[in-house]
Amino acid sequence: MLHTQLEHRPAKPLPVVIIGNGPSGICLSYLLSGNVPYVRRDSVHPNPILQRKLEELPEVSILDQDLEYLSEGLEGRSSSPVALLFDSLLRPDTDFGGTAESVLTWWHQPERAVPHLVLGKTLPGGAWHSIEGSMFTLSQGEWMGLPDVPFKDWLSKKKRGFRNNRATAGDIVQYYQYYVAKKELRKNFLCGLLVTCVKKLSVEPGSGCRAQDSGDGSSPCTLPETLQAHHQEENGTLFKVEGLVTTVGGTQPFSIYAENVVLATGTYDSPSWLGVPGEHLPFVHHTLSALEEAVKSKEMGMMSDPILIVGAGLTAADAILFAHHCNVPVIHAFRRRVNDPGLIFNQLPKTMYPEYHKVHQMMKEQAIPCPGPYECYTSLPEHHVVSFTEDRKCIFSDKNGHRKMHNISMAFVLIGSNPNLSYLPNNGMDLAVDGGQLVSSKRNPIDTDPFTYECVHEKGLYAMGPLAGDNFVRFVQGGALAIASSLMKKADKHPP
Ligand SMILES: Cc1cc2nc3c(=O)[nH]c(=O)nc-3n(C[C@H](O)[C@H](O)[C@H](O)COP(=O)(O)OP(=O)(O)OC[C@H]3O[C@@H](n4cnc5c(N)ncnc54)[C@H](O)[C@@H]3O)c2cc1C
Repeated sequence: MLHTQLEHRPAKPLPVVIIGNGPSGICLSYLLSGNVPYVRRDSVHPNPILQRKLEELPEVSILDQDLEYLSEGLEGRSSSPVALLFDSLLRPDTDFGGTAESVLTWWHQPERAVPHLVLGKTLPGGAWHSIEGSMFTLSQGEWMGLPDVPFKDWLSKKKRGFRNNRATAGDIVQYYQYYVAKKELRKNFLCGLLVTCVKKLSVEPGSGCRAQDSGDGSSPCTLPETLQAHHQEENGTLFKVEGLVTTVGGTQPFSIYAENVVLATGTYDSPSWLGVPGEHLPFVHHTLSALEEAVKSKEMGMMSDPILIVGAGLTAADAILFAHHCNVPVIHAFRRRVNDPGLIFNQLPKTMYPEYHKVHQMMKEQAIPCPGPYECYTSLPEHHVVSFTEDRKCIFSDKNGHRKMHNISMAFVLIGSNPNLSYLPNNGMDLAVDGGQLVSSKRNPIDTDPFTYECVHEKGLYAMGPLAGDNFVRFVQGGALAIASSLMKKADKHPP
């Protein structure tokens, strides 16, 4: 299927190409496949203002209503009004500990479907493929579900349950693949594709087309005549999406033309680096999976020099728990004070997250010079890594600028990650809220319209998920609602 789709040269560009096949891409594909949400007749939303608004147009699908009006005044754990709206329709009283059913009912209306493809490097599921399968979610398991297939129902069919209301990454990735199959979305998904370039094209009469503002000095490219005619007729936007497709037969280039492109590539592809000398040495790694592989291949053990874990976020904590479980000695260095209120451990309730509470306790009790009860673990709060040396030493500086050196067997720098937008001109910086800085989900997301998620600086381009500042699965779904609503309105203006 993959090859026939790519080899077939269409007479028209595709209306939509979605890059990234994580929960964002899956949810959007579900909506664009003609699955349309309406309010259930007998439902009563616990928010009386929203209930009153929903009663005004009971026959009109949510996708066709005014999302700005419906979401006005909603409050919650996201700053996106549409994310709050969709979450509140799907999980009406979840923030108050309730389990009320969704007020939505889903109708399959194939005539509303917008043709699209979802391109991804791996199987559908996104970042969840690279998270160790036994790790528990930070969020409640129920919040990891996608529309119309409650995660809890799928889990109970598998005869499994939540632990402390949390789910494992392994179950989540299986659920996303089940969802794609169950909702008959597979035909839209092309896996094993790495997108390397997205260009907006401007057609120059008689001469072909040129990539706009690509900044790469690219020469005009040849646009198939049928597409050129279509483009001039429609006078719309046109993008060329290029990349590499890998199959059993090898790796080949591909290109697809699209009227709209959705960026849903998440923010977990480029781990952050410290930027210190020696960080490129082969014993210094930047992913948790490298630790898992090293333990599996017995590269280190109880008798080795300790491993170094740098960072005080949840991935660093997961690495400490994993190493502790495998009896691997650990030195743990991080910049903050253990009681810093900004430290994630100081924000998590102890009863729900006992394992992270344990790591926090170790960080507090096991600091040099007074080692505490935990063998094989040493905490270095308020320490910076200065450099790594070829003979596997790490030099640190403490808060007073005093330097010390430790022998280590391997190092794991787990200090966060950044999106990899190398497939966009200028690494996507021109699309960001602050165009002078790299895109970052927390500090500098892509600048999008809050009710359509279309990029403010590039019409026809949309961004969703962490790229647009929605960092939790529960809230990426609002972006899908906004984009599907916008694209369906565009499709209604230009019927096929
Ligand atoms: C360790 C960890 C724990 C987390 N815990 C939680 C939690 O408890 N609750 C929660 O709600 N969220 C959690 N998250 C965040 C959650 O993973 C994201 O919110 C969610 O996955 C975002 O979905 P997405 O589809 O936008 O992006 P992703 O899931 O990141 O998917 C994007 C996909 O696009 C692919 N891609 C990237 N570039 C290209 C390219 N050039 N060509 C083709 N494909 C490309 C990527 O490989 C990836 O498969 C966690 C994340 C991590 C890393």
